[in-house]
Amino acid sequence: MKRVLTGDRPTGKLHLGHFVGSLKNRVKLQNEYDTFILVADVQALTDNFDQTGKIKDNLLNVIIDNLSVGIDPKKVTFYVQSLVPETAELTIYLMNFISFNKVLRNPTVKDEIAQKRDKFKGNPPFGFVAYPINQAADILTPRADIVPVGFDQAPMIENTNTIIKKINSLYGQIFNEVTPVFGDIGRLIGTDGSAKMSKSLGNTIYLSDTEEEVRSKVMKMYTDPNRVKSTDPGRVEGNPVFVYHDAFNSDTEEVKDLKERYVKGTVSDVEVKTKLVAAINKFLDPIRERRAYYERNIDEVYDILSAGTKRAREEGKKTLEILKEAMKINYNLFTN
Ligand code: ATP
Ligand code: MG
Repeated sequence: MKRVLTGDRPTGKLHLGHFVGSLKNRVKLQNEYDTFILVADVQALTDNFDQTGKIKDNLLNVIIDNLSVGIDPKKVTFYVQSLVPETAELTIYLMNFISFNKVLRNPTVKDEIAQKRDKFKGNPPFGFVAYPINQAADILTPRADIVPVGFDQAPMIENTNTIIKKINSLYGQIFNEVTPVFGDIGRLIGTDGSAKMSKSLGNTIYLSDTEEEVRSKVMKMYTDPNRVKSTDPGRVEGNPVFVYHDAFNSDTEEVKDLKERYVKGTVSDVEVKTKLVAAINKFLDPIRERRAYYERNIDEVYDILSAGTKRAREEGKKTLEILKEAMKINYNLFTN
């Protein structure tokens, strides 16, 4: 059975962007692939070294967020990155198979460094710049074939394949290249209309938001800035309210009708938003129910993590064995 690896940084609760970008595909792929989902706490440290408490606080949240959308713990292996030291060991080896300049050219890392200029005082830690190599090690820990992610992760997959190709060219065909699977919406815009819904931008609707929180966020949402009155013809394309209607409203007839009336100027923003509140709450209801179950049965979550982490370590050990044997550094100096 082919394998999937993906995961989230425990830097906050998961939101609708995570759902359309990656979680939705995880739910689908879990039926066809042996799926591994990690909580990337080591990676989160690279830009949260000064807020480590936040990482611990979000660890269980992120697992419960995954379970709440319908990921089945009987099918999926969940694990904590820092409890699989094999990934850290692997990272050190992988550093040799990608050039310094290539790592520096990763466009997502460059964007993130620009965004975090104040935090990094213009001089990011080496660990942050190198995190795509650590992510390649995550992918190779269970030797995954498929990685369901949002668009911002495309350069990370490319870096991983650079590393895999280099290893294979040096030591023989030992690892398969990996394929990213992007969501139908690879980058969901924020409630403020900015390019990406993101924990760090405060423009999110969380999977764990209450009905009231959803209402208040949607009613404040950015729409078509040129539309002053509800009788003005409005723009549907790129309008966050309609992007969300398309993504989360299962009543396609209603969405079609709202769009037609919006373009003609015969529907108010308030009506469009009120219907969106109802649609998102309907979408979130079964998610809320599963969340409530796991919150009541938190011991189950610990058991899922502990069994999954054990399995991930076994797989990580196997990857190291394969690589070390191929590199001829699998000497048993002290065993015979
Ligand atoms: P941060 O804001 O702290 O950078 P994040 O919101 O980007 O965090 P991650 O844990 O880095 O969250 O991302 C987890 C997964 O969700 C990745 O595959 C990422 O591509 C995807 N993702 C995150 N935000 C979005 C979004 N707005 N649209 C689509 N996919 C997203
Ligand atoms: Mg991110």
